Amino acid sequence: MEKEKIQFANTEDVVIKIEGLYKSFGELEVLKGVDLMLQKGENLAVLGRSGSGKSVLIKILAGLLKPDKGNVTMLGKQLNQLKPKQLDELRLRMGFSFQSSALYDGMSVYDNLSFPLTMNVKHLSKKQVNDAVEEALDAVGLIDKIESDPEELSGGQRKRLGIARTLIMKPEIMLYDEPTAGLDPVTCAEINALIVEVQQQYKTSSIIITHDLTCAKNTCERIAMLIDGAFLKIGTFDEVFATDEEQIKKFFSYNFT
Ligand code: ADP
Ligand code: MG
Repeated sequence: MEKEKIQFANTEDVVIKIEGLYKSFGELEVLKGVDLMLQKGENLAVLGRSGSGKSVLIKILAGLLKPDKGNVTMLGKQLNQLKPKQLDELRLRMGFSFQSSALYDGMSVYDNLSFPLTMNVKHLSKKQVNDAVEEALDAVGLIDKIESDPEELSGGQRKRLGIARTLIMKPEIMLYDEPTAGLDPVTCAEINALIVEVQQQYKTSSIIITHDLTCAKNTCERIAMLIDGAFLKIGTFDEVFATDEEQIKKFFSYNFT
């Protein structure tokens, strides 16, 4: 898969800025000073062991969990200064692909897409809704499933439908939590290719939590290693891979031996 290089940008092209983020659950300190900047247009992979706090971080970005300390600025808005209505408005500019796709079984593929659209955007004509549904299904390669029930879809197709459901809102930022977990290698590669297509077609900026190093290497401009509650190293795959840091070397050694 050939991927266009994106230009690394000015600070005004930072779409997510995380500064000094802390989050504990009782005695358990999960995030201990996370700093990160996501550049407009880039895909950034977040790697780290299970339980290291990757999902907690993404849930904070999604506004589903509140940090104990620190600042998050997304699309120019500081999260902790937003009123609930403003947070809802911001969330509409973001797409989430979480571990369970949370599809509405029993509703057709068409309705799975038209429902969130008509809930969130008022006064659309039937034609506008149809066009939007078709565009989103086309983008993920599921146009021939428009009449199907999600229960009839394979794991990979359900993942695609979940992504289509976020694309219908034309998100500026995508947050993917283990998008290829539990999929076979061929389907993983297809989902990884889709993530790049979404980046290029919808001009999204994305954070992708993954254990799939092929995904990190081929679909992401940079990777970030979450270790002991903070990012120990952020850079291109090759930069992070080449580091002397013992914990990072250990992480990679289990993947490549
Ligand atoms: P991962 O890196 O595997 O995604 P998580 O972010 O899900 O890890 O979890 C990090 C740690 O925080 C784990 O020890 C988990 O049990 C704990 N944790 C996550 N969410 C909660 C919660 N809502 N309440 C209590 N503990 C939590
Ligand atoms: Mg997780």
